Amino acid sequence: MKQPADAAIFHRAGAALEIRPLPVVLPPPAHARVQLVSSGICGTDVHIWEGSLALTGPFIPGHEFLGRVERMGDGDRLDCLGNALNIGELVAVNVVEPCGDCVLCREGGDASCLHLIETLTYTRSPAEPPHLHGGFAEVTISPTRFLHRLPSSLPADVASVFLCAGPTIVRAIRYHPGTLEGASVVVQGSGPVGLFAVLWAAHHGARVTMIGSSSHPLRPELAVLFGAADFLDIRSTDVPARQRTIMESTNGIGADLVIECSGSEHACPEGIGLLRPRGVYLLAGQYSDRGAVPIPVHAITFSALQILGSAQFTAVDRQAYFDFLLTIPELWPAIRQTVTHRFPVRQAEEALRTVHAGDAIKALLEAQA
Ligand SMILES: [Zn+2]
Ligand SMILES: [Zn+2]
Repeated sequence: MKQPADAAIFHRAGAALEIRPLPVVLPPPAHARVQLVSSGICGTDVHIWEGSLALTGPFIPGHEFLGRVERMGDGDRLDCLGNALNIGELVAVNVVEPCGDCVLCREGGDASCLHLIETLTYTRSPAEPPHLHGGFAEVTISPTRFLHRLPSSLPADVASVFLCAGPTIVRAIRYHPGTLEGASVVVQGSGPVGLFAVLWAAHHGARVTMIGSSSHPLRPELAVLFGAADFLDIRSTDVPARQRTIMESTNGIGADLVIECSGSEHACPEGIGLLRPRGVYLLAGQYSDRGAVPIPVHAITFSALQILGSAQFTAVDRQAYFDFLLTIPELWPAIRQTVTHRFPVRQAEEALRTVHAGDAIKALLEAQA
């Protein structure tokens, strides 16, 4: 165990992350110490860093990370789904826990539990023991019941790629009232959330068109490898041209389901215009407030559209993500290719800048040998 452990600390938007060695203490009762394997840079981390999602520091960012259980405190040794944990096992780390008891939890909306924010671990100050609360650190000390054991046959470098984007889409699709089998689906956005949406929808029988950007040449290539029938590049097409293409591929009536994964407010009016009557618009990617945008509200009534939001996910959704990955080993090489950038924890600031600039498809912080 490296002692002390490097951690990247967020103080306030616009200020550089502070890299500080923090003491690695013994895990308290019902806690475990986890040695970092990798920690994903999420769009949400960029939003916090640039100030479009208002959070107050100091804290160690990072909410999509996995590592190896290195030491456990006394007491509870069961993970979030009741699996017994052992030293040396790979785990993903949850940073929130639904209460199980509020009206949302009782009616199946536990990803939007009314008390979720109260359980958030990683926004605690590093001054507060056991200090290492978030994913941008070489070590994390977490409540044991927040850990999620990986299936033993699932490689860490495959599981880590869509560790947040994957279950985010699994949850969003749960809210879709229809079936994916035989459906025409449009995915807006070619970041990790959009790419996983293509992978999931195509492997559940949908015909998928991605609307994305070729800002990185691998994006269209991965979309096709993941099962997209078409990739419409926003750099070389305009909204009317894309609408014509979607109409032509859906017998002139529009898509059954459009999944918004871009985070751009401008995607919303375009997405509504791509739907067939009674079509479903699933907004899963608007994680920061980009402001208001005019939408053709008459179309919602006139075409009897269904507009749905989805936020967060639960451990059950992440387990479904793990189980899905185990069914597509032939795509593991392509999934690994999604990670275009890797950084040590001490370069967390550079990692955020790279993602913010749009240069990376997926960037990870990784433990150094
Ligand atoms: Zn995330
Ligand atoms: Zn609840």
